[in-house]
Amino acid sequence: MPVQQATLQRLAQIPNLTISEHTLLSRYTRFGIGGPAELYIETPSEPSFIAALNFVRASGVEFAVIGSGTNLIVSDAGFRGVVLRFTSGGLSSDGRIVRAQAGAELQALVDYSIGQGLRGLETMTGIPGSVGAAIYGNAGAYGHSINESVRQVRLFDGSEIREFSNAECEFHYRESVFKRHKDWIIFSTELELASAPTDELRKTADGILKVRLDKYPVTMKCAGSIFKNLILAELPEAVQRQVPARVIREGKVPSAFFLEEVGAKGIQNGGIRVADYHANLIYNAGDGTARELCAIIADLKSRVQNRFGLTLEEEVQYIGFPDPSTGSLTVAVR
Ligand SMILES: Cc1cc2nc3c(=O)[nH]c(=O)nc-3n(C[C@H](O)[C@H](O)[C@H](O)COP(=O)(O)OP(=O)(O)OC[C@H]3O[C@@H](n4cnc5c(N)ncnc54)[C@H](O)[C@@H]3O)c2cc1C
Repeated sequence: MPVQQATLQRLAQIPNLTISEHTLLSRYTRFGIGGPAELYIETPSEPSFIAALNFVRASGVEFAVIGSGTNLIVSDAGFRGVVLRFTSGGLSSDGRIVRAQAGAELQALVDYSIGQGLRGLETMTGIPGSVGAAIYGNAGAYGHSINESVRQVRLFDGSEIREFSNAECEFHYRESVFKRHKDWIIFSTELELASAPTDELRKTADGILKVRLDKYPVTMKCAGSIFKNLILAELPEAVQRQVPARVIREGKVPSAFFLEEVGAKGIQNGGIRVADYHANLIYNAGDGTARELCAIIADLKSRVQNRFGLTLEEEVQYIGFPDPSTGSLTVAVR
């Protein structure tokens, strides 16, 4: 249902909301891609977020929650509904317990914990995006993910505020219960870390950051890895036999291995290109569109499916597509 003027007027009465109409979502995605949202709302206030969400739900209008837009493909047609973002990013600590609001940048949390002499997040340095989305997608790098440190997550499920234990978050590799409840909003988290010398943690983080910046220059319009890696033990035996031991890391086979085997590196479709040096890194090299991006993704998935019988699964999340688990698949790659 489209957003009515009456809806807008009622939302405008809720305090602490910044509301804009027909906002281009390309401004809020690292790909720099995405058409307009009918309404875009930001707030640092939990009660205002809940009031807005309750009103949007009651109006029957579609809604989507975003963070910093670093893992999003938004359709060229945009989003017919309301896009909401919770922006409060407070950080605090009490001994080995660190509390972070969902709107904080993950890097701010990493730097804060290092500064407090707390180990557990330093390998996540350089992962862009917000704390809320890091919980949602169980972000991680270099063999560690945020779930290892999460003690509690505070969320709104559409009717009440709840506090989930680590187990209730149902974390797995790049997965959590929140991916199956896209209408829930994470407001904050509590992490338990271990004491360690700040200098040592800083050194680890700086080393990782240097490698990451070579791989993902700060100006690159991308989402990091497009596809999740695959867990070796879950692959059919016939596929396992084709995977050389040198590519296996922490029990996972990088999707990049399969993509490279099917000739993904350097493929281009309009303004969208697969990096020449990394087959699982797709970026917007100019004026790329979501249509072109989704076509490349579909093409790569079908190449891997045909050659290995494997279905690659996107790590990136979709907004504004008829099926939120996949983008439009209609354009052929040139
Ligand atoms: C250069 C680059 C490198 C990357 N490297 C890594 C990496 O090494 N490891 C890794 O794990 N990821 C990596 N990523 C992916 C990305 O950084 C993470 O997925 C990140 O957690 C996304 O955060 P975001 O705030 O930008 O989320 P968005 O892209 O805005 O949203 C992602 C999803 O989170 C949901 N979401 C956001 N906030 C909330 C909330 N408060 N409550 C509920 N749901 C919410 C959204 O609905 C959406 O489905 C990389 C991305 C880039 C661009």
